[in-house]
Amino acid sequence: MSSTVGQVIKCKAAVAWEAGKPLVIEEVEVAPPQAMEVRIKILFTSLCHTDVYFWEAKGQKPLFPRIFGHEAAGIVESVGEGVTELAPGDHVLPVFTGECKECTHCLSEESNMCSLLRINTDRGEMINDGQSRFSINGQPVYHFLGTSTFSEYTVVHSGCVAKINPQAPLDKVCILSCGFCTGFGATVNVAKPTKGSTVAVFGLGAVGLSAAEGARYAGASRIIGVDLNPKRFEEAKKFGVTEFVNPNDYDRPVQEVIAEMTNGGVDRSVECTGNINAMISAFECVHDGWGVAVLVGVPHKDAVFKTHPVNFLTERTLKGTFYGHYKPRTDLPGVVEMYMNKEIELEKFITHELSFSEINKAFDLMLQGASLRCIIRMDD
Ligand code: NAD
Ligand code: ZN
Repeated sequence: MSSTVGQVIKCKAAVAWEAGKPLVIEEVEVAPPQAMEVRIKILFTSLCHTDVYFWEAKGQKPLFPRIFGHEAAGIVESVGEGVTELAPGDHVLPVFTGECKECTHCLSEESNMCSLLRINTDRGEMINDGQSRFSINGQPVYHFLGTSTFSEYTVVHSGCVAKINPQAPLDKVCILSCGFCTGFGATVNVAKPTKGSTVAVFGLGAVGLSAAEGARYAGASRIIGVDLNPKRFEEAKKFGVTEFVNPNDYDRPVQEVIAEMTNGGVDRSVECTGNINAMISAFECVHDGWGVAVLVGVPHKDAVFKTHPVNFLTERTLKGTFYGHYKPRTDLPGVVEMYMNKEIELEKFITHELSFSEINKAFDLMLQGASLRCIIRMDD
C-alpha cells in the first residue's frame, strides 16, 4: 500500500444518509491524514449502543450523512506531519475519547477528560481544519466520535489512537476500544468495590457485563444484575452475576427491591443502560453512609436527573465516567496485555460475527437485544 501515502484512497464505507434508515455501502474518498492525524486500515469493527442512538437520532442531535463506528481495531496506513509515536504498520485501537498528553487533564492522574480530544458526539469534522476527510463525489460525509470505523480506511487524530501489542488478535481486542474498557473500568477504576462487597449492575449488555466482570475481578461477593430483557439473565451467569432483578416483575421502584435484598442497599452500583430512570434507581439503591453509584449510559439529550438532596446528605456518592476512566494511549496497551495473559476473557462477549456487507444486521441484532457484541469483518 506504499503507493497510497499522501494520496486520496477510494474504499468502501457504510454511510448513514438519514436517521434510522439502513446504512448504504458506498465508495468514499478518504483524504490523507493532516498534521497529527493518522489514516488507519480498519480490519474489525463492532457495534456499540452509542452508534445506534446517534443513528436513530431520536434522543440525540441528527447529523447526516455520517459514517458511524467507534469500537474497532486496525493497522496504521500512513501518518500526517508531526506524528512521531505511530508509524505505518502499527497495530492500533482507535478510541472515541483522546489523550493529548499535554493538557491539565492529561497531566492529572485524576482525569481522562483531555481538554483537546475528549469525546464530542456532536462534532462531525476533524479538529485540525474543521473539515471532513470523507467525501462522495465531492460531498462531505461527517465523522462520528473522531473514529468513523464503519469504513475500510478512516482518519483519526493520533491522540485518539492506542498502539498495542502486534501479537494481539485484532478480532478480539477490538472490543477493548469501547465496550469492555468502559464497563470494566467503571467498576475497577471508579466504583472501586472492595473484596466481599455487593454490586448492582443496571443493563446487562456488553458494557454492563464488563462492569460485572470488573466486580468479580475486584472480589465482590454478590453481583445483582438488573435488566428489562429476561434473555440477558442466562447469559449474565457466565459473567459472574449472582442474582437477577427485572424491574417489570415488581410494582414498586427497583431501588426499594434492591434495598430489601441487601439490608439497606448495595455498596456499589454501575448504570449501563442510558435510561434516566435506571440512572436514578442506580443511585438510590446504594447504601447510605458509604454507597457509590457510577453512571455510564449515554442519556437522552433532554434527560434530567432528579433525586432528593437528602440522598446525598446521607453520604451516598454519585459519579459518572467515560471510557471507564482509562487514559486511552497510556492505559489501553496494558489492558491488551491483561487479555494476552488471560487475566480477562473477551470471547464470551462476542455473540455474532458478520461480514461488512451485512452491517445492517448488526443494528437489527442490537435493537432486538439479541447480541452482546457483533464483530464485523471489513475484508469481505
Ligand atoms: P446494550 O443495548 O447492549 O445494553 C443495554 C442493556 O440495558 C440492554 O440489555 C437493555 O435491555 C438494558 N436496559 C435498557 N433500559 C433499562 C432499564 N430502564 N432498566 C434496566 N435495564 C435496561 O448497550 P451497550 O452497548 O452495552 O451500552 C450500554 C450503555 O453504555 C449505552 O447507553 C451506551 O451508549 C453507553 N456507553 C457509554 C460509554 C461511556 O464511556 N460512558 C461508552 C460506551 C457505551
Ligand atoms: Zn461505545
